[in-house]
Amino acid sequence: MKVATFIEPGKMTVTEVPMPELQKDTDAIIKIVRACVCGSDLWWFRGISQREKGSFAGHEAIGIVQEVGAAVTDVKLGDFVIVPFTHGCGHCAACRAGFDGNCTNREAGGNAGYQGQYLRYTNANWALVKIPGQPSDYSDEKLNSLLTLADVMATGYHAAKTAEVKAGDTVVVMGDGAVGLCGVIGAKLLGAGRIIAMSRHADRQALAEEFGATDIVAERGDEGVARVLDLTKGNGADAVLECVGTEQSVDTAIKICRPGAIIGRVGVPHNSEIDTNALFWKNIGLRGGIASVTTYDKEVLLDAVLNDDIHPGRVFTKRFQLDDIQSAYEAMDKREAVKSLIIINED
Ligand SMILES: [Zn+2]
Ligand SMILES: [Zn+2]
Repeated sequence: MKVATFIEPGKMTVTEVPMPELQKDTDAIIKIVRACVCGSDLWWFRGISQREKGSFAGHEAIGIVQEVGAAVTDVKLGDFVIVPFTHGCGHCAACRAGFDGNCTNREAGGNAGYQGQYLRYTNANWALVKIPGQPSDYSDEKLNSLLTLADVMATGYHAAKTAEVKAGDTVVVMGDGAVGLCGVIGAKLLGAGRIIAMSRHADRQALAEEFGATDIVAERGDEGVARVLDLTKGNGADAVLECVGTEQSVDTAIKICRPGAIIGRVGVPHNSEIDTNALFWKNIGLRGGIASVTTYDKEVLLDAVLNDDIHPGRVFTKRFQLDDIQSAYEAMDKREAVKSLIIINED
């Protein structure tokens, strides 16, 4: 079978490897239907963070359950499932508290290789999310929306949840990548009255508005701060969704909060230092981290997609076959695609 493999920064390939096999009774083998490239993959693709050469790539997919270990009873052979990157067990203290992204029973090394034809999925019993029916029952657009529930939509929603967005709130979303755009959807789901999207790119601004943004701020840094304060009559935002992860972005987030606001942070931090004293002087809360993918999917997001309440699949602006994996990464690296879809097994 084929799987996307990291060669060196800027270079991906597809390698032929043996079919994965069950190793534990908590494993499942998944036949991948669709997968995608994540904004977080760009960190190592660009050589900014380290990744082992020759390692398999990808951590977001939808697929069909091909085989299950003896302890996997929540899903069965032939089930169509969301394949989250989080692998929550469903019963540890973290999972029970709704933080399955921090599951304490998670196995090391299980979170890769989704950009391939088949995957050995660890801790499979509770983490996989069953989708009614089969892929052929859904439109192309709906399949894409279901795929976002493996990471990006749940991560955007996590930003809004941890920022404690409430009905009528004025929310600022920082970052116009696929996560930020899904943050707009998340804020809207939680009832935000006004959603200010910070974005400099026309195509992403349009998507943000389609998803529920009421205002667009193209400026960054101090100019961006001034613009948001102007739009909010000097008050600042009730909640800020930080979906970038840079030092400047967190700094801007703090400056645009009204006193007592909360920043929900899902941009993966890279060498960013935070001035926690600035939080103190305005009673600002800073939360966020790895999304609770399975929890949100089962509680809210799967139904929202199935009922056509949200259409996060629109973040996939380019599609590729697995053999074109290099182009799929390059399209995101060069910002030609908001998010790259990879079609794998569709028969
Ligand atoms: Zn991801
Ligand atoms: Zn757990």
